[in-house]
Amino acid sequence: LLQLLEPLQFLGWYYSSLKNCFVDLEAMLEILMTSSNLKDGSVALAPPSSSSIASRSGLSIEMRNAEYSYQEDRKILRGVDLRVNPGESVAVVGASGSGKSTLLRMILRLYDVDSGDVLVDGTPIQSYQLSTLRSSMALIPQDTLMFNDTIYNNVAYGDQGASRDEVLAAMKGAQLDKLISSLPLGAQTVVGERGIKLSGGERQRIAIARAILRQPRLLVCDEATSSLDSATEAEIMTTLQSVAKGRTCLFISHRLSTVQHCDRIYVLSEGKIVETGSHEELLSDPGTMYNKMWRVQEKKLKEEEMTAISK
Ligand code: ATP
Repeated sequence: LLQLLEPLQFLGWYYSSLKNCFVDLEAMLEILMTSSNLKDGSVALAPPSSSSIASRSGLSIEMRNAEYSYQEDRKILRGVDLRVNPGESVAVVGASGSGKSTLLRMILRLYDVDSGDVLVDGTPIQSYQLSTLRSSMALIPQDTLMFNDTIYNNVAYGDQGASRDEVLAAMKGAQLDKLISSLPLGAQTVVGERGIKLSGGERQRIAIARAILRQPRLLVCDEATSSLDSATEAEIMTTLQSVAKGRTCLFISHRLSTVQHCDRIYVLSEGKIVETGSHEELLSDPGTMYNKMWRVQEKKLKEEEMTAISK
């Protein structure tokens, strides 16, 4: 995947002329990442009827005893049970290598589980047409593909059929207003090599706007703030929390400070869900793995703050 990034950035330069050829570069990337053995289903997953009833039109996701191995002799997911109800914000946390990205790949149906089930609105995920499944979900990744184009077009790329008002509303939802009003050309400012260089936080706001423009029935944040410094991370988390209200959201993270607000947190360790609860519930028990991870991360954060002050 990393080998693809450079050529894709290059393609970004020629986005304007290429966009009629490749309707959706990120969709193309998804297809490249997708297992070639996937069989398409026949059930069409309905789009949300209106953004104003996002919580009611959110998807429910359930994993039942899900197992997965990339190689025969090494199970990566081991009997995972997990539930996301419509309108809920749910997080999956765990150390590096615990299987978070693998679990996400099952929910996005980039791969199929070896055994167990992934149910979307109570129906096995394999039953759905992949195109309607993918268009119901939006992903905010750690690093977002940016085009050498205006801020407006970089957001509008999320849904090529969106109206101007919808694009403006998405930018407002992602709290891009402050940036836009500080620029002489506003949303028509070009970003990238030929325009302004965006900070990590500003790029993530564009990614958020792009994702919510699609009015997804499931919004997935995959380590969306982990490349940011702690102050910017806190700002972007505030935006994400306001965006998450009333939507069905799944947060994948190894940083616990970013998931405190979630209705439920699943702790994944070596491919198994070992703990479940709210932040307060998990923290109130001194014996939980969550509690230990929290203390380690708090200590590290304080050390970073001290180093920053002493510089
Ligand atoms: P991180 O936080 O570092 O991204 P993670 O919790 O998301 O880690 P995964 O990326 O799901 O963990 O990886 C879980 C295990 O599966 C790791 O041991 C990893 O090496 C292995 N793995 C991941 N992708 C593949 C792959 N495509 N082929 C073989 N093994 C893989």
